[in-house]
Amino acid sequence: MQDAVIITGSAAGLGKALSHTLSLKGTNVIGIDKNADSDIIADLSTSNGRQIAIEKALDICPKPKGVVANAGLSPIHHDPFEILEVNWLGVKEVLDSFLHPLSSNKSGSAVAISSIGAAVGGDKDLIDCLLEGRISDAKATLRTILQSGIIEAGIIAYSSCKVAVAQYVRANAKLWGNEGVRLNCVAPGRMQTDMLDGLLSHEDIAPGIEALPTGIAKSASASQVADVVAFFLNEKSSFVHGQVLYVDGGSEALIRPHVI
Ligand code: NAD
Repeated sequence: MQDAVIITGSAAGLGKALSHTLSLKGTNVIGIDKNADSDIIADLSTSNGRQIAIEKALDICPKPKGVVANAGLSPIHHDPFEILEVNWLGVKEVLDSFLHPLSSNKSGSAVAISSIGAAVGGDKDLIDCLLEGRISDAKATLRTILQSGIIEAGIIAYSSCKVAVAQYVRANAKLWGNEGVRLNCVAPGRMQTDMLDGLLSHEDIAPGIEALPTGIAKSASASQVADVVAFFLNEKSSFVHGQVLYVDGGSEALIRPHVI
């Protein structure tokens, strides 16, 4: 297959909407998901699953045009350690592995999916461990955080991964730029997917989500966010590199107006 865009977490939510948006424009899409409704079935919560996903995708398309590291577990996932595996290692290892293949495509581009959670939380020690590749230390830090409760640990694991994902994009702008591959990040706010439904139906979490300020609209459809990811993948954004864009109806600007 030529010029495919590889999307993790393609069976639902944003990944599914993006697959649809790109397919309508005639782009070849290779979807990776743990669920059956995908081209490659692989569990990104394990090292073996990530390796299988990467190898199979490269077998199908050795010189992809794009990669979107989208798959993510919710902050209320029952196992906070699995959040580190999917939301951090499932992004970092996928992106690291595709840099070289993307560089062999004349318009290679990648997008990492972070979250508004990156603007509101995270644990500095945990973030440092993730970015420095000290995964055992990250798990030890999370074990300490877990003493405050499973919900607290899930929220901190989730937002720490999302900070690390955004910082990975910034920190790798030089390396990726030298290879001629653009790397950007989209950080959604409230987006109408199964993940948001789960959060809003959780009595301890829903009030925090409802309290999130928004400037223009309370939430977006997955396809509204997919349109922005598609723009980053498209050559129309050929001078955009190393950026983190909050697609959140203005939440991030309202929360921290002085950050530019
Ligand atoms: P979703 O739960 O609707 O879909 C996530 C997809 O990822 C599912 O198809 C799921 O099967 C897949 N996935 C999960 N774990 C996996 C694993 N171990 N291996 C392979 N695939 C796996 O989520 P969504 O709302 O579409 O979220 C997409 C991205 O957007 C995530 O990174 C999420 O953190 C981020 N995000 C979502 C929101 C929101 O409000 N929905 C807000 C901010 C950021």
